[in-house]
Amino acid sequence: MHVHLIDVAPKPRRKMSFQTLSLPRVAGATPPDIRVSITDGRVERIRIDRSADLVGMTFSCNNAPRAYELAREHRRLGIPVVAGGVHATAVPQEVLGHFDAVLTGEAEGGAWEHLLRDHAEGRLEGVYRNQQPPDIAGLNPPRIDLFRHRRRYLDFHPIEATRGCTHDCSFCFNATIHGPKFRTRPVEEVVEDARGAPTRNLMFMDDNLCGKPGYAKRLFEALIPLKKRLFFQTHLLMAADLELMDLAARAGTRFVFVGIESVEDGSLAAVNKAWNRVSDYRTYIQRFHDRGIFVSGGLILGLDKDTPETFSKTLRYMDEIGLDNAAVNMLIPYPGTPMWHQMRNEGRLLTEDYTRYTGLDPVVQPAGMSLEELQDGYDRVLQEFYRPRNYVRRMVRNRMTGRWYLYPVAWFREPRRSRMLRLGHVLNRRGGDRRAA
Ligand code: SF4
Repeated sequence: MHVHLIDVAPKPRRKMSFQTLSLPRVAGATPPDIRVSITDGRVERIRIDRSADLVGMTFSCNNAPRAYELAREHRRLGIPVVAGGVHATAVPQEVLGHFDAVLTGEAEGGAWEHLLRDHAEGRLEGVYRNQQPPDIAGLNPPRIDLFRHRRRYLDFHPIEATRGCTHDCSFCFNATIHGPKFRTRPVEEVVEDARGAPTRNLMFMDDNLCGKPGYAKRLFEALIPLKKRLFFQTHLLMAADLELMDLAARAGTRFVFVGIESVEDGSLAAVNKAWNRVSDYRTYIQRFHDRGIFVSGGLILGLDKDTPETFSKTLRYMDEIGLDNAAVNMLIPYPGTPMWHQMRNEGRLLTEDYTRYTGLDPVVQPAGMSLEELQDGYDRVLQEFYRPRNYVRRMVRNRMTGRWYLYPVAWFREPRRSRMLRLGHVLNRRGGDRRAA
């Protein structure tokens, strides 16, 4: 049997993607007598492989329409298609309308094998899921070797230590896919993966690597002798623990992505993130800089307590707190999240066209301003923050000139948020393509 796995993207980008673990994990959880191939639509064109007996696709919300189109094309040729990943987990019944079966949650733990058995017996149907999120100790290694076109990826090795998160921000997908519990892999298994990495650069795919400080300390301590460079996402609260910060720095941490989200305490509270305190931002970010760690922050504009004044305030704070880079989005109410349910119940979803759920378009009616104020304010924040001279100024002021190479990496980390795309987006808006919903 041949299973063809596809990471769906509208069109390939070359030499600017990170390897991910989602499909290599599924391939790793596949019995060894089944042949598996992977097409990563982010770096190569997606072609129909007629030799496949089964096709599995993973896709994000904004790529769902393209995935549905591909599913139709495969089914027309008699090739059964199954879906998995974040969007399929969030709205399985919707996705099932386009696929033969849906796998929700994580592949390991028996659900994927169950689906494959049913397929072999010709009774593939419905939604497959594990009763409990699987134990992540002793998993088969992810099949990163199945990625073709190795040169089209940045020089980072994807690695994983934890799944889940210790928080439950209402806009976040994490609990939908990984469940409410934070799970960790044995430190020695992670170290073994790190030791086998073909590069010094380790990109942790975890949503919140430092969710449990005790585990993160043990992990960092064990990684110190390897002399790697670490890049990861974490909550900003990590910086409250100086011992953890010192160990992270000694383990080789170069870059963190932290969820800042808002400079309005009220808006943070509205998304269940009141534990992120605006008054701590500056001190905490300085602690990263003191250890030579580059800080990129995620921000959301258009939250419920935001007003037209929030944009100037955001620009001022982004500068004052010393962010090196930022991914700034408008609110995206991902289907299945508490935020999505709230917006739907309040009748504030402006569209269910998922291709617009990119963070670049307003897709919910803001509470504290008009749509036009949101769009104009958002464009202004982007224009100012991403000005090249502001990048240089930040690099010098934050004493990050020695980390100059991380600025393009930070853009690549969030490719659709890159400066050029932002610029194009703003110019597009200026050209009159204002899609008021
Ligand atoms: S801290 Fe980050 S990963 Fe955790 S729930 Fe909040 S947004 Fe999601």
